[in-house]
Amino acid sequence: MWKIRKNHQKIIQNETLLFDRFIDYSNNYGLVYPNNYKIGMSNLGLHFIYKLINSRGDANCERFFYEDSSTEVLSLESNRYLNEFEVILFSLTYELDYLNVIKLLKNANIEIFGNKRTQLFPILIGGGAALTINPSPLLKLFDFIFLGNADKKLNKIIDIINKKDYETKIELWNNLKGIPGLIPGEFISKTNYYKICNEKPEDPIYNSILTPNTELKNMFLIEIGRSCPHNCKFCSVSNIYGKYKIFDSEKIIAILNQYKNKIKKVGLLSSAVLEHKNIKDVLEFCIENNLTVNTSSLRLDLLNSEILNLLKEAGNKTLTIALESGDEKLRLKCGKSFSNDEIINKIQLAVNSGFHIFKFYIIIGLPGEGEEEIFNSIKFFKRLRSELGRVSLKLKLSINPFIPKPHTKWENKMFSDRKIIKKRFRMLYKELKKVGYSLKLGKLEESELQYLIANGNSEIIYPIINSINKPYSDIIQEVKSI
Ligand code: SF4
Repeated sequence: MWKIRKNHQKIIQNETLLFDRFIDYSNNYGLVYPNNYKIGMSNLGLHFIYKLINSRGDANCERFFYEDSSTEVLSLESNRYLNEFEVILFSLTYELDYLNVIKLLKNANIEIFGNKRTQLFPILIGGGAALTINPSPLLKLFDFIFLGNADKKLNKIIDIINKKDYETKIELWNNLKGIPGLIPGEFISKTNYYKICNEKPEDPIYNSILTPNTELKNMFLIEIGRSCPHNCKFCSVSNIYGKYKIFDSEKIIAILNQYKNKIKKVGLLSSAVLEHKNIKDVLEFCIENNLTVNTSSLRLDLLNSEILNLLKEAGNKTLTIALESGDEKLRLKCGKSFSNDEIINKIQLAVNSGFHIFKFYIIIGLPGEGEEEIFNSIKFFKRLRSELGRVSLKLKLSINPFIPKPHTKWENKMFSDRKIIKKRFRMLYKELKKVGYSLKLGKLEESELQYLIANGNSEIIYPIINSINKPYSDIIQEVKSI
């Protein structure tokens, strides 16, 4: 425990708070990101909730992360135990973090099942992209789940909770009922009808704290758009977040201007960075103010010399592009409407603008993919390599298995056999390694478990709890056996 406290103290000392806290200990919220600090602090949803609650003046919000299963569950800010907080909010962007939720609750001596937590506190509320895609696996666990964009709804929920105008969770639910996106856990009532809140905020969300202890070390992240104007068949973004929203570039620049003296690196986040019609203005502001810019992966069809030069000037070193497949027909089928020739031309433009490192995202196991499509992929990547010509270029392929998920056009497809995925990866690896690509395959057991959870019903929680400390392969077997 002494070690945890010491570590928390060190983390806090290295943080820079970017807003004024007005806290009141009469309403205490635990904010849990069920993964480590490095990952959790790269999540803008967490920053948004933390700032919102700690700026209200009538509540206190403290963070919890999951470092390992043996650790006591203490808040980062004051080392208080999780079970001392009246309300616990969970931010879930990744299905495998559900396992950590269970471990955290066990470690914190909080009953896992909502129907056995008969006392009023703690109230457990979940939210985030993974739950929005499918809340069912945690319906027996959480008291309430929020689906979709909570930006405009969270204050209302907190107002009602802080009013303490209820004596039971059922009474609290009666007060909360009707807030779009909020659904009850199974303990309160069972429903199969979920409506996602896709109401967009007016303003972008951004870091409320800077820290050197993340992958993105002191990078100031700001959202420049929400949802996506495209609708690729494997992707849920535009179906769960509704119509694509671009945040006003003047607002983005005003925020960057406010913090420019405290920051050196900016991360522009959006599922569709280049679709922002004023992206050039934002990049130019960053360049003028010596702010290095990083972006989420980019749509290749919208790249042009002007944008590439600005990205390069703003300090971008790696160009990350989601190609999905080297097979042209399969790529088009996915919804990525750019040809092999177009890819080669655009990458050539990027090389001319000074880019040397390229990272391409590829999916294996897509519907309609056979060995022929893998051979076509190999042919394409070899052609790309030879047409670019320069030996000094770094070409990386980040390869992941196709995970069918709800709210996508391919939601009824199956996860491929792991042996098939491995075989196809080996085919790519053998041929492309020798022409200078570096290839990395995502962990297949993690992906399969992610698939099972993302598509699971509320009964799935039982086999997961039964096998919680076992390897993923065992959990997969348990889950498949129900
Ligand atoms: S894969 Fe990318 S471009 Fe396609 S819908 Fe999803 S976010 Fe948009």
